[in-house]
Amino acid sequence: MDILVVLEDSNGKIHRLSVEAIVGAQKFASAHNLSVSALVIGMNAEALSSEAAQYNIDKVLKVTNDLVSTYSSDGYTEVIRQIIERESPKYILFGHSYQVRDYVPKLSAKLRKPFLADSVAFDISEDSAVSTKQMYSAKLLSDITPNEEPPYLISFQSATFNSDNINSGTAQIEDCDISFDASIIKTQSEEPFKEPGEDLDLSTANLIVSVGRGIGKEENIPLAKDLAETIGADLSSSRPVVDSGWLPSVHQVGSSGQSVAPKMYLALGISGAIQHVVGMKGSKNIVAINKDPDAPIFELADYGVVGDLLEILPKLTEALR
Ligand SMILES: Cc1cc2nc3c(=O)[nH]c(=O)nc-3n(C[C@H](O)[C@H](O)[C@H](O)COP(=O)(O)OP(=O)(O)OC[C@H]3O[C@@H](n4cnc5c(N)ncnc54)[C@H](O)[C@@H]3O)c2cc1C
Repeated sequence: MDILVVLEDSNGKIHRLSVEAIVGAQKFASAHNLSVSALVIGMNAEALSSEAAQYNIDKVLKVTNDLVSTYSSDGYTEVIRQIIERESPKYILFGHSYQVRDYVPKLSAKLRKPFLADSVAFDISEDSAVSTKQMYSAKLLSDITPNEEPPYLISFQSATFNSDNINSGTAQIEDCDISFDASIIKTQSEEPFKEPGEDLDLSTANLIVSVGRGIGKEENIPLAKDLAETIGADLSSSRPVVDSGWLPSVHQVGSSGQSVAPKMYLALGISGAIQHVVGMKGSKNIVAINKDPDAPIFELADYGVVGDLLEILPKLTEALR
């Protein structure tokens, strides 16, 4: 086995960042003639393995041991460690999710192998690898070449690969019998955190209207809500809007909020700070309204309007209505 992609469970479906990691694996595999396998773990492994088997990969390894029916960093670390020992993959790929940030450093320490975290590019040659990582709020890119022998653990930043580019196929599913002592699991995870009373999954939204600090004050939020309702979009925001208490935190997009990849992301009064951009740069079309023509969001936007959003919003909503 050359490449192993570890897939994350997102309520019985493959996590969006894991799908992107499969696209990366398919790309390296075809460029370097390598084999790709995927690993699914836990109580939803059956559903996840059927979903993964529809992609162009060689095989899907399925682990359903009771001790890892739900996530724990100790359990996942042990399962993946055993799989790596047994199958000897050279490159182990992950999406850079919160879960991966939780357990992969532990796996890296156990294996004494490098974790190339949050990569925005990766290339391989012979027995070496180069991971590219953003530094200083994405002002610099740094290439990192590990001086260890493989295997390498590599996680990819959201939108490094486009999930639309995934290749279909028929993979074989293999049950993996992993056993270990229950005493290995020293921690127990609670249910994934959810804001009380809120159940907003922006990761599957097609249209998003997103408000930033440029909206000015809480009383102006209904201008953005009106536009969102008019076009059937979900409402999201940058962090200052949440920190100011103008919207609940479940609406926040960015490095400490949700990752989104809608068909259209309308950024209203958002400057384009890296911590925000990292959560939305996978959007297929980005439309920005900002009164500052030099706002960094315009470097990313497909369409930009320089102007005062408090003037533009009511007219735009009216015109679309
Ligand atoms: C560890 C850490 C994690 C973070 N996580 C996140 C995160 O998950 N999500 C996130 O968003 N941020 C996050 N941040 C904060 C981030 O660094 C930025 O501060 C934030 O994204 C800025 O939000 P903003 O663009 O709404 O505000 P600002 O940067 O203040 O930009 C406001 C923009 O509105 C424009 N504007 C003002 N008035 C108008 C008007 N009337 N019409 C049109 N345009 C107008 C301005 O020109 C400006 O470009 C994080 C920061 C740290 C340190």
